[in-house]
Amino acid sequence: MSGEGITRRQFCAAGGTAAVLVGLAGAGAFQNAQGTVYLRPPGAVSETHLLAHCDRCQRCVQACPYDLVQPRPLTVDFPATGTPELLFKNGYCDFCMKCVEVCPTGALSFEAPTADNIGVAKVISDSCVAWDWGGCTVCADECPVEGAITLDERGRPHVSEDLCDGCGLCELVCPAPSLRAYDPATLPKGIYVASRVSEAAAVPGALTSAQFESTAGKEAGRE
Ligand code: SF4
Ligand code: SF4
Ligand code: SF4
Repeated sequence: MSGEGITRRQFCAAGGTAAVLVGLAGAGAFQNAQGTVYLRPPGAVSETHLLAHCDRCQRCVQACPYDLVQPRPLTVDFPATGTPELLFKNGYCDFCMKCVEVCPTGALSFEAPTADNIGVAKVISDSCVAWDWGGCTVCADECPVEGAITLDERGRPHVSEDLCDGCGLCELVCPAPSLRAYDPATLPKGIYVASRVSEAAAVPGALTSAQFESTAGKEAGRE
């Protein structure tokens, strides 16, 4: 589940090859090799557009004040290496749009459909404390979008796919890792943001850890 780490030297080598791939992509020669989608920063027009136009310059990575934007590590999905994805380790997205402002190639654009809606939060039913035995309402309490998370009669969170903008605050603050005993079969957090073009986003309601891992195109272990 975790991203496959590489050394700095390997990354630099990958960057050179990625530059070649960018040239090929500009000619429409490649798409995401694995058919995988990642959680991209605001302003990513589409996965194909991003892969074709991003020159892996890392300006968006440097611009994010909360260190959310991270370069994709070198994995079997080689063409995605160095492209930006969002990890909510240190903060959540307030849509300051600094990452979009500094993008020199149009890979991130103010005109993109994702400019104010990064993704959608998905509750993980076998990791969420409230779904398992109850008592936690942290994500619903902290969500900045009114109505995006509601609690049912059993106190379990549900996400409104129409209202959620994918800001990641719920994923950031979810205390499940500190409330639950470690279980390698379940994801650490009880809620994760997935790209709206992922299969996970198309599944209505909560998913199990296994369902999320197989449909989100997101290595939740990187968070
Ligand atoms: S919009 Fe701002 S907070 Fe969100 S990813 Fe871009 S730079 Fe970071
Ligand atoms: S904060 Fe996490 S554990 Fe608590 S209700 Fe929300 S998803 Fe479940
Ligand atoms: S990502 Fe989470 S905190 Fe942000 S709007 Fe959606 S449900 Fe609310």
